[in-house]
Amino acid sequence: MLVAKNIHKIYRNPVSKANDVHVLKGVSLSVEMGEIVAIVGPSGAGKSTLLHILGGLDQPSHGEVFLRDQNLYAFNDIKRAKIRNEKVGFIFQFYHLLPEFNALENVVLPAMIKSRSRMTAQMRMVGMDFLKKVGLSERVQHKPNELSGGEQQRVAIARAIINQPDILFCDEPTGNLDSETGQGVIDLLMKLNAVNKQTLVMVTHDEKIAQRANRVIYLKDGEVAA
Ligand code: ADP
Ligand code: MG
Repeated sequence: MLVAKNIHKIYRNPVSKANDVHVLKGVSLSVEMGEIVAIVGPSGAGKSTLLHILGGLDQPSHGEVFLRDQNLYAFNDIKRAKIRNEKVGFIFQFYHLLPEFNALENVVLPAMIKSRSRMTAQMRMVGMDFLKKVGLSERVQHKPNELSGGEQQRVAIARAIINQPDILFCDEPTGNLDSETGQGVIDLLMKLNAVNKQTLVMVTHDEKIAQRANRVIYLKDGEVAA
């Protein structure tokens, strides 16, 4: 499903080369279809940077990422954005919902982008269906600031899966939630993996969550340590 080869990331300091940050130092990994992989490691190890690169959000300084045999960074930004829109879902610690839009509109947005159209009746139906899948049928018209953290994260999950991506990248999806709410979010992600065979790559601090993965990748000082 996903192959990363010798990924390096250097954040260049525009003023002095001595202040360049070499965050990833030759990371190689692969993820099988349907697998649940947890990426763990200390704060600052480069987990978020790696996840963004794997998902086509951030250019590596060196190395290649293949998503279903497509070399992500051989494409231009527009083509890569299209692949992200259709094949990849992202879930972030702080949800990143659009504050001006209600839950349904946030969920449907990737479908509107995919078909380059306004919200159609069909999309509205599909959006409602996905909100139902995440248990939010009663919160369709609510804006993000009217929703709890757990509800916002469930909206973000519905948004991430509306285009039925092959793979979901989650960056500390429960990092801002209490443990019970976080558990509910993880249960939901596990169910999506079981039912839709959606591959999950998840950065987490939480040992208990990592234990539920098929495989754990330990990142330390920009390298895969175990
Ligand atoms: P993690 O998610 O494991 O905590 P990150 O990938 O967010 O780690 O960050 C890894 C390192 O890269 C940190 O030292 C961070 O300060 C640095 N870093 C992240 N983004 C940038 C950036 N845009 N410019 C410079 N340094 C950055
Ligand atoms: Mg991080």
